[in-house]
Amino acid sequence: MFNIILFGPPGSGKGTQSERLIAKYGFKHIATGDLLRSEIAGKTELGLQAKSYMDQGQLVPDAVVIGMVDNVITDNPDAYGFLFDGFPRTKAQAEALDQLLLKHEEKINLMIALDVPEEELIIRMMNRAKTSGRTDDADPEVQKKRISVYKNETLAVASYYHQFGKVITINGQGSIDEIFAALSEEIDDHSA
Ligand code: AMP
Repeated sequence: MFNIILFGPPGSGKGTQSERLIAKYGFKHIATGDLLRSEIAGKTELGLQAKSYMDQGQLVPDAVVIGMVDNVITDNPDAYGFLFDGFPRTKAQAEALDQLLLKHEEKINLMIALDVPEEELIIRMMNRAKTSGRTDDADPEVQKKRISVYKNETLAVASYYHQFGKVITINGQGSIDEIFAALSEEIDDHSA
């Protein structure tokens, strides 16, 4: 398997690029935000618990998201590889992910971080809110909270993988095609 983490702040384009990468390479997509939103739509107990955190721009507890990821990994032993999107978001999640993968004799091969300035993130979240119906994209206070959670809790995930020499940063500004080409080049280089 070739397993990658697409990393970046909220609004950096992880979801958009993930869709294309999945279509090109056949990764199994593991997007914890999408998994949580489908729990909310299904009105499950887990969804009800997660909703209040998400509405406030806070992180859902580690144990909840780690459990969901464990299920998807276990259910997809024949995937080409996993593409993690929006996970891990804390150092504890990163350590748990390494353990989960190890259980299946797998590992993270590469983390690609999308670099996008903060002003641009706000513009993108505002634009996405128009079509996604995501309340956490539309509210300026929640946007700010999500960016501060990213800085205070999630950036540590990049440092964690950096110590293993697994992080590549690419410019997340430009056309969707340009960024996709840069991502594909890194994946091709590292999976060859
Ligand atoms: P996203 O769709 O990745 O922007 O995630 C939307 C919201 O879901 C976040 O603001 C968090 O409240 C929650 N969430 C998604 N992924 C995680 C994660 N790995 N850990 C904790 N909370 C998460």
